[in-house]
Amino acid sequence: MNRKLIVLAACAALSAGCETVDTTKAGAVGVERHQRMALSSAQVNAEAQKAYAQMMAEAQKKGVLDRDAAQVARIKTIVGRLIPQTTAFRDDAAKWPWEAHVITLDEVNAWCMPGGKMAVYTGLINKLQATDDELAAVMGHEIGHALREHTREQMSQQMGTQAAIGVAGALFGLGDVGQNVAGMVANVTMELPKSRTHETEADRIGVELAARAGYNPQAAISLWQKMEKLAGSQPPKWLSTHPPHADRIADLQNQVQKVMPLYQQARAGGTASAGK
Ligand SMILES: [Zn+2]
Repeated sequence: MNRKLIVLAACAALSAGCETVDTTKAGAVGVERHQRMALSSAQVNAEAQKAYAQMMAEAQKKGVLDRDAAQVARIKTIVGRLIPQTTAFRDDAAKWPWEAHVITLDEVNAWCMPGGKMAVYTGLINKLQATDDELAAVMGHEIGHALREHTREQMSQQMGTQAAIGVAGALFGLGDVGQNVAGMVANVTMELPKSRTHETEADRIGVELAARAGYNPQAAISLWQKMEKLAGSQPPKWLSTHPPHADRIADLQNQVQKVMPLYQQARAGGTASAGK
């Protein structure tokens, strides 16, 4: 096989597939970065749904899916209040097939797959002794990653470096590049560390969603403090995919100031339930 031909094919595949997009509106917190995508949302979201369905079926089989009705109700209430707020960032999100489950696993972890498929592990709820406001901060952050389509962006970036290999593989009949995309989507969402840029965007969107839903956005700060306190004894899994950085608390404090009026408005409007 002519090597030059393979490189040309890879370039053509990439340039044809790459587009610059704005996945979200800026919101009060001002997330404005343009993104380069080499995969379509439809493709990534469909694969995410496939992976999620498989994983939840597996959890069910192992008897670790939604075992504690009170815990499940608590999580569903919190995400149920956050989801309507996503329209502040993108209009289509209200129609996403959102879903959340509680998995009985002693790991401090939570995630949201592309397209809104979420899971919270009991380890996170119990070991952090998380308040409702703190759980809203975790889930708001995760939803922020999904709204910004960070998994799709990370996969697009990986394709940039792997396309030549992939196309070569396809030309040699070594299999379809997209053969196990569902596995890749799950892996990128749940296992790969996110960049500092992605973390900051998810933090900012998270505090705004929480504030709009009537959850105290300050809880994002106490959440990180609790996470870092745990890091000494048993490092939370969540910290390996959401790496802390030195400026995080300072940035969160700035953002919390920006969204405080939205929180007060939501409280005054009765969005938040009394007495919480
Ligand atoms: Zn994150």
